[in-house]
Amino acid sequence: MKNYDVILFDLNDTLVNDTENRRFAYQCMIEYFGFPYSEEGFLHWLSFDNLYWKTYVNHVSVPSEFKHIQSDYVWYIRSYRYFMFFNGKISLKEALAYNELYIKSLEKHIVSMPNAFEMISFLWNHYLLYIATDGPKQAVPSKLNAIGCSSFFQGIFSRNMTKSNTAKPNPLFFEDLLEYIHFDKKDRILIVGDNLEKDIALASNVQVDSCWYNHKQEVSTTIIPTYEIHDLLELKRILS
Ligand SMILES: [Mg+2]
Repeated sequence: MKNYDVILFDLNDTLVNDTENRRFAYQCMIEYFGFPYSEEGFLHWLSFDNLYWKTYVNHVSVPSEFKHIQSDYVWYIRSYRYFMFFNGKISLKEALAYNELYIKSLEKHIVSMPNAFEMISFLWNHYLLYIATDGPKQAVPSKLNAIGCSSFFQGIFSRNMTKSNTAKPNPLFFEDLLEYIHFDKKDRILIVGDNLEKDIALASNVQVDSCWYNHKQEVSTTIIPTYEIHDLLELKRILS
């Protein structure tokens, strides 16, 4: 007897190595704007980018011409972070023009998380698999393709497909996701992801089982996953 029918996989740092991916994209961005690369600069970008999506993004004042169409809105808020990061060294116009190149560079250097292909190619025959990501949908197919997993997923759901631009762990993200996958039996769904505050908190907010892929050996405090693994192959043990 199977425990679940649907498994929702986070993408970044769950199936693909997001740090290596972003390092390459950062190198391209620095080169494009004519600045020198340094490891310190990259680490600064990583923490800035994480903080941007967590906090700063809520304070970006989006001009009315970018508010009518959801994709324009997302374009603006994605671009605004380059403008903010370079702090006066590039114009907002240059930041807006750059956004697509950044997304394209994210598609170019993709490193798999250990055993992603082994696990996904085993699961797809037994479960309906979907990607549930906060990242841009545009980058997902090439990432899945690069790790050999593109044919195993029924669909891809991303933040920019939500009605009100909501991300994990907001329950509205999950509501829109359920509508997209046409499935509403929450007790037959498992969410798998690396991020406690996003993936596991989402599962807990909507009362769905979760599996925390804790590859960074973090310590869970207030957010408690249903299962915890340190290697993707351990999913077999949970699901058997
Ligand atoms: Mg993740």
